[in-house]
Amino acid sequence: MQLESEVKRIRQRALEELRARGSFAAWREKDFLYGEEVDAGVIVLSTRGCAWALRAGCTMCGYIYDSSRSVSQEEVLQQFKDGITKIGDVAYLKVFNSGSFFDSGEIARETRREIYRLVNSLGVKRLQVESRPEYISEQVLEEAAELLEPELEVGIGLETTSDYIREVCINKGFTLEEFIRALEACRSTGVKVKAYLLIKPPFMTEAEAIEDAVKSGVEAARMGVDRLSFNPVNVQRGTLVEELFYKREYRPPWLWSVVEVIMRVKAEVSIPVVCSPSGGGTRRGAHNCGKCDSRVLSAIRRFSSTQELHHIEELTCNCRQSWKEELNLEVFER
Ligand code: SF4
Ligand SMILES: [Zn+2]
Repeated sequence: MQLESEVKRIRQRALEELRARGSFAAWREKDFLYGEEVDAGVIVLSTRGCAWALRAGCTMCGYIYDSSRSVSQEEVLQQFKDGITKIGDVAYLKVFNSGSFFDSGEIARETRREIYRLVNSLGVKRLQVESRPEYISEQVLEEAAELLEPELEVGIGLETTSDYIREVCINKGFTLEEFIRALEACRSTGVKVKAYLLIKPPFMTEAEAIEDAVKSGVEAARMGVDRLSFNPVNVQRGTLVEELFYKREYRPPWLWSVVEVIMRVKAEVSIPVVCSPSGGGTRRGAHNCGKCDSRVLSAIRRFSSTQELHHIEELTCNCRQSWKEELNLEVFER
């Protein structure tokens, strides 16, 4: 397939050029849990990286360049320990590895088990991890449920409910059917599911991207996911999206599009809808005119941690009109 070979070419060249740093990151933030704003902590572990990204990967994802192929399981566990020391007490702990927590090639079974034991000593209410659907089985979920005292939530990068867009624009490498199988495995073992949805994959107009994100959010909620997280695309290094960006064939979404998606989805669903735009307000991230970006971004963050729509309902700026005109123009140009 042409898209896959193109993504593979870009991936291999960037992997050769960039030396992996193998570092981890950890920080505190606010999130929404059990009807209220809570303190959350994020630990990003550096592992050998997402197996799908090592083959070719998704068109917008450059996380693989933060991984380290030589990292040992002892080092992964040490990163986790350093992370929990750094973030302190939180109600909601999110452990990301820019890949799949349940892929034993990234995080070995014994490392996962040790992480569960350590999490039990922290007094958190919920642990969130991330995984592609192919690594989510009843077996790994039952083991987690057995060892883990807090609730478990698995984030899955569904990106869109359209198989066509997921394949042709994102090169995601799994189908909606595979996502539903993973969702059912989670539901039958009492594990919560957070679906990540993309706003503006490449090869789509802004207006098409808004419609797809809204439709996907509403459909994923109907399928039974417990939380929606919208990720506006940001231009990451060594990706197909970056090549399009350099050729002026890709512009990250407007923050107004993000606000529009959140408001329309929130009006239709009863589950939490969250969004924390990476790189927001920069040329490589979701942005508006420059003058209103930080105000709109902080409103989106306030909405995410409180679920109160008034934070984003009354935002204004002169550029909102330009955004509307651009949406209309795109339709006209096609
Ligand atoms: S988006 Fe997820 S599945 Fe795709 S390459 Fe990145 S880490 Fe892997
Ligand atoms: Zn503006």
